[in-house]
Amino acid sequence: MRRALTFVIALAVAVGAASYVLRSRQPAGPSPDQVSPAPPLPWTWDEARIREMVERVRAGRDLTPRAWPNGARVAVGLSFDFDNETGSLREGRDTPSLLSQGEYGARAGLPRVLALLERRKIPASFFIPAVSGLLHESSVKAIVQRGVHEVGLHGWIHERNSQLDEATERTLMRRSIETLERLTGKRPVGMRTPSWDYSPYTVRLAQELGLLYDSSLMADDRPYEVMAAGRPTGIVELPVEWILDDYPYFWMDRASTVRPTMNPDEVLSIWQAEFDVAYAEGGLFILTMHPHVIGHRSRIAMLERLIDHMAAKRDVWFATHEQIARYVTAQAGAGEPSRPRG
Ligand SMILES: [Zn+2]
Repeated sequence: MRRALTFVIALAVAVGAASYVLRSRQPAGPSPDQVSPAPPLPWTWDEARIREMVERVRAGRDLTPRAWPNGARVAVGLSFDFDNETGSLREGRDTPSLLSQGEYGARAGLPRVLALLERRKIPASFFIPAVSGLLHESSVKAIVQRGVHEVGLHGWIHERNSQLDEATERTLMRRSIETLERLTGKRPVGMRTPSWDYSPYTVRLAQELGLLYDSSLMADDRPYEVMAAGRPTGIVELPVEWILDDYPYFWMDRASTVRPTMNPDEVLSIWQAEFDVAYAEGGLFILTMHPHVIGHRSRIAMLERLIDHMAAKRDVWFATHEQIARYVTAQAGAGEPSRPRG
């Protein structure tokens, strides 16, 4: 009898637990009288709607020049996104250990990056969230003092543009431009959106604020003109890709990922192979890195080996993104046909 009673109690507990699990899996949505109509499902969209969607921001004409300066076969744009603590701050995460992981970029990574560029006499572009610039004014000065590097926009606090309304995005972009201009003495001419995230307004705001180029989109390996709603914007795109970014290979966030840290030699072999084809095609090689990621000892040594590999070709043009964007714009001219692919 006691055994049967125990069984019944155990069963009741199990049923109760199961129903709790099921209840807790229900999304906590609004009450039934607040429910708004569900958006149409993607397979019900008509062609006009799909076209309108994809054409909001699109790749336009190819801006690859017939030749790069001084007979170079390929243009190489090394870029460093100086995010530091802003990657955590934008998520509202402010624990000292996380912030220190970002602070490494300014304190240990950047001096190594600058020393390497100096040794090799290579200019680079640094995309700086305005808040990171405010937190590390002396680092910004160290970048600018070299007289060869460029500072470009990278958001206010590394916010995600696609989560903002147009007015907020405009305000943050203006404030970022003003802050960087005050810190560097020069108004930035190009942008890389934080996390390469784009809203439907981003490119229009870049036009409105008179920017020359963007380096956040991925529709090609070659430079191209950005189109917005079917119209040319005059904004040069210097395209990026996760393959050519240090983050996915090396970043390890203990709380949110099990991604292992890769052997730098493996990353070197991928980046070399990407460069070799860019060289063979006479194209463009844009590399995105972060001082708090690439600035670690084993990785900065790998970057130096990559620079050795590229510089050994001799006919390579190392330039800032601004120099590349100005050159391709001047070469392409207004309305000229672009070079055929292949
Ligand atoms: Zn960033």
